[in-house]
Amino acid sequence: MKLISVVVPCYNEEENVFPFYEEFMKNKPFLDANDLNYEILYIDDGCRDHTADKVKELIEKDRHIRLISFSRNFGKEAGIYAGLSHARGDYVCMMDADLQDPPALLPELYKAVTEEGYDCAATRRVDRKGEPPIRSFFARRFYALMKKFSDADLVDGARDYRLMTRQMVDAVLSMQEYNRFSKGIFGWIGFRTKWIEFENIERLHGETKWNFWSLFAYAVDGIIDFSSMPLTFAAVMGFVLSFVAIVMLVFVFLRAAIFGDPVAGWPSTICIMLLIAGLQMLMLGVIGQYLSKTYLEVKRRPIYILREELGGEAAVRADDAASGVRKDAADHALPGTEDTKA
Ligand code: UDP
Ligand code: MG
Repeated sequence: MKLISVVVPCYNEEENVFPFYEEFMKNKPFLDANDLNYEILYIDDGCRDHTADKVKELIEKDRHIRLISFSRNFGKEAGIYAGLSHARGDYVCMMDADLQDPPALLPELYKAVTEEGYDCAATRRVDRKGEPPIRSFFARRFYALMKKFSDADLVDGARDYRLMTRQMVDAVLSMQEYNRFSKGIFGWIGFRTKWIEFENIERLHGETKWNFWSLFAYAVDGIIDFSSMPLTFAAVMGFVLSFVAIVMLVFVFLRAAIFGDPVAGWPSTICIMLLIAGLQMLMLGVIGQYLSKTYLEVKRRPIYILREELGGEAAVRADDAASGVRKDAADHALPGTEDTKA
């Protein structure tokens, strides 16, 4: 019997804990038919509401449920990392708690990985229904930019909803960086991925945790984590400006030598000075961004801190039964994938 782990990052999702579980359990006949055991890992990312209590209620009812609580809010990326490192499954799937990632797609994802020879089945939304147009516009620009300038192979509309083999999960965990941009990490590690498309679904309860500026900061993180294009741009810009300056210098020198030296062009000189000073500040800012990321990396702080861990007994028993399989998976694990973070 193989085990599927489902990782559900939650930040203030008390209204969605039960509906998510009910929706997921509609897959039970599929799981039984394929001789699959399951565990659902709810990641309580420092929730300020009753999400953890709801999950505890579920654990009482179903021993396949697990709760992993953080000491504070560490963000969805940390939630994904913690979920992947605690998951014991032969296959691991990530889904949002708000049912924007329809659990009904699970059989299709599973088929792609087990029958069609893919290492991962990922999902993307084909439309951005219900999203403000300005956000869609910037999102599209961001993906176009990343496609050109980074090796992370991002896909427009890709969600974090994906099913991965143990081998791929171990590869994700082997990327121990502190600044985690999962969409980039998934693309960077490679493997064969099948993209399954679905139409955008609006969140069941509650509100999205993202506003325009947090998405903007997320996009900047993505660029800085997976591309050195802004630094190259700074260097090229410096080169071009120096070249123009030398040409102008020669021109001004010759003009002064031939026609004398009338003092003209004061306003334009000021404009150019301001422009160049502005560009210098901008480029310093770009370098500063990389430096601050490097600073956080070298400090090697933990990606998350655990406060509590509960449940999952039923999945553990099955795990023992399938220990042959799991041992095999462990043999294939990449070096450095042990969870030393918690
Ligand atoms: N989430 C989280 N930590 C956070 C913010 C969000 O674990 O700090 C979870 C959230 O509970 C949800 C998922 O990440 O399950 C996606 O968040 P959200 O629905 O707000 O984002 P959107 O779907 O609008 O991109
Ligand atoms: Mg959502």
